[in-house]
Amino acid sequence: MRPSLLDPLFAPVSVLPGVGPKVAKLMDGLVTAPGASEARVRDLLFHLPTGLIDRRRREEIMSAPTGTLVTLELRIDRHVMPSREARNQPARVMAHDATGEIALTYFRAKPQWLETLLPIGATLLVSGRVEWFNGRASMIHPDFVGDAEKAASLPLVEPVYAMTAGLTGKVLRKAIGNALPQLPALPEWIEPGVVAREKFESFAASILALHGPEDQADLSPQNPHFRRLAYDEFLASQMALALSRQRMRKASGRSLGGDGTIRVRAEAALPFQLTDGQRDALREIHADMAKPDRMLRLLQGDVGAGKTVVALLAMAAAKESGAQSALLAPTEILARQHFAGLTRWCDAAGLSIALLTGRDNGRTRAAKLEAIANGEIDVVVGTHALFQDDVAYHDLGLVVVDEQHRFGVHQRLTLTRKGRAPDLLVMTATPIPRTLVLAAFGDMDVSRLHGKPAGRKPITTVAVPLERLDEIVARIGRAIDEGDKVYWVCPLVEESDKSELTSAEERAEVLRQFYGERVGLVHGRMSGEEKDRAMADFKSGQTCVVVATTVIEVGVDVPDASIIVIEHAERFGLSQLHQLRGRVGRGSKASSCVLLYKAPLGETAKARIAVMRESEDGFRIAEEDLKLRGEGDLLGTRQSGVQSFRIARVDEHADLLEIARNDARFLLNQDPELASPRGEAVRILMYLFGKDDAVRLLRAG
Ligand code: ADP
Ligand code: MG
Repeated sequence: MRPSLLDPLFAPVSVLPGVGPKVAKLMDGLVTAPGASEARVRDLLFHLPTGLIDRRRREEIMSAPTGTLVTLELRIDRHVMPSREARNQPARVMAHDATGEIALTYFRAKPQWLETLLPIGATLLVSGRVEWFNGRASMIHPDFVGDAEKAASLPLVEPVYAMTAGLTGKVLRKAIGNALPQLPALPEWIEPGVVAREKFESFAASILALHGPEDQADLSPQNPHFRRLAYDEFLASQMALALSRQRMRKASGRSLGGDGTIRVRAEAALPFQLTDGQRDALREIHADMAKPDRMLRLLQGDVGAGKTVVALLAMAAAKESGAQSALLAPTEILARQHFAGLTRWCDAAGLSIALLTGRDNGRTRAAKLEAIANGEIDVVVGTHALFQDDVAYHDLGLVVVDEQHRFGVHQRLTLTRKGRAPDLLVMTATPIPRTLVLAAFGDMDVSRLHGKPAGRKPITTVAVPLERLDEIVARIGRAIDEGDKVYWVCPLVEESDKSELTSAEERAEVLRQFYGERVGLVHGRMSGEEKDRAMADFKSGQTCVVVATTVIEVGVDVPDASIIVIEHAERFGLSQLHQLRGRVGRGSKASSCVLLYKAPLGETAKARIAVMRESEDGFRIAEEDLKLRGEGDLLGTRQSGVQSFRIARVDEHADLLEIARNDARFLLNQDPELASPRGEAVRILMYLFGKDDAVRLLRAG
């Protein structure tokens, strides 16, 4: 149960004076917490200003610099309304001071309203931006008009908030002003040492300060008040991860040591030597598996680094102890590909393997479930179908999750409910920077798979403007005549009236005019079977160009594909470009990546393309990506369920994230039940940041 102390903060915004149902609806759209249905008082308090209006600068007309916000004291002379024929023209209210004349300009204003606001003969304070044009001064839509006599009532500095259509700054500011007094005094949850070192003030004091900025410095993410809230948010999320870790570990007592026999057989079946990186990762994984504690390990490896084989050898080790393994893939395509790839090796190693996806039904499904339940099957590969209620395992000991960034923390718990606290190995090809690993996987131990299998040739990356499409089409034509295979990735489409799908279909159509029936197409709206067929045709060489939307981004493995064309490369994020490029360069052929872009490039797009041309190192690219665009979409937050932060910014506050993680683990070691006074305070913090689920883990025991 949420502590009643927090009730005022969790009341709907409509309890605030001045917030009627209509305004409340608009606020729901603007500030509601992810996953929640309505905006609460807390959400308004977390809606921090993005700027400020500073009306302190008093000027006279002649000396007012163009484009700067100033406050003038003006005498109103006359109103010049547009004629009926020229209704699109603005109304102009002429006014003057001792130095000159100015036109206050209003579009679509009712004469009546203007007369009340700016009565002729009145002396008023008017704030806004002055524009100079042909020696005449004007001010378009002054942002404030007030009585000169009551100058003191002019709000000199006001915060500016991100807005939504229909909501005015005035209404939002007023609501936030009324929300601030709702802040209760809360016990301090941050460790005293951190408070002192960071010069933090209380949570309430920091919120108050952030909503009343005096100058730009008060808005900086490096401001101690901002840092305090960022730390609070990190601590809440790291506590949630630490609690889930504690919970997962508690359900332990299984050692999957094994005698190595099956691993030796599996390794002997491989047509290649393991890389040093693969060996190192396996050493860490096997050490974890051999321990009675449950394994919670993230295997981070660049695209093409060879993670699947690592999974295979981990599953072989599980079998040595008589346990089953499940390999979970995010899509049907990937599940099938893993199944196809692993079957050969499993057969050689003496592991029985089955594929289970949403497409199985009726008798085949029943037969598979039976074989899984009675232990005939050692390795089950599949999609989410692996964890449906009616799937019972004989003895599930290891769960491997591929491309985890598509799954959230909560799913991790459900994934491992089957079996007796199975070990968990999560593999991700997104080379997430260290700080983000902490943010998203703070509960896990991390292995990094460095280096690539020997024999890989570097990928040549070129950037070509779309105007030279003809040239590229011709060059690709020659390449496929010589037996090359080509991915052609179609743009993400921004215009809503044109879908990603049509652009891929159109492109395929155009390419068919040049290359004939050798062009295939894969997109997200195709049925699973259709996608498989298209990919199988490409693999077998029936088609040699496959036009694709980003469905091929993750994991698809066609080792002899050697060219990838990415159209409208400027619309893709850096990590995404890198993932896409990783589709080629997997075989012994020299590969190339053509980034087709629409000129002129913006600064960020230019920088991204430069990084792509310079580097093939996924970890470096991920760091650059973080710098270029902040943490926002790096994890593919929208599709992943991996939480993003409301206040904290991973790029700005990385140092705090590290402290928060250590502090969370430390606190939970000292006080596993969060029963101490500080533990109690941390519970409040977690509720405040919506980590109710994690707090509940405490009681679930
Ligand atoms: P990812 O890490 O992107 O999942 P995969 O596991 O799909 O990479 O491996 C990419 C390709 O490299 C596959 O064709 C795989 O068989 C091959 N491979 C994996 N390990 C090695 C190795 N040690 N030597 C040579 N090829 C390897
Ligand atoms: Mg893979």
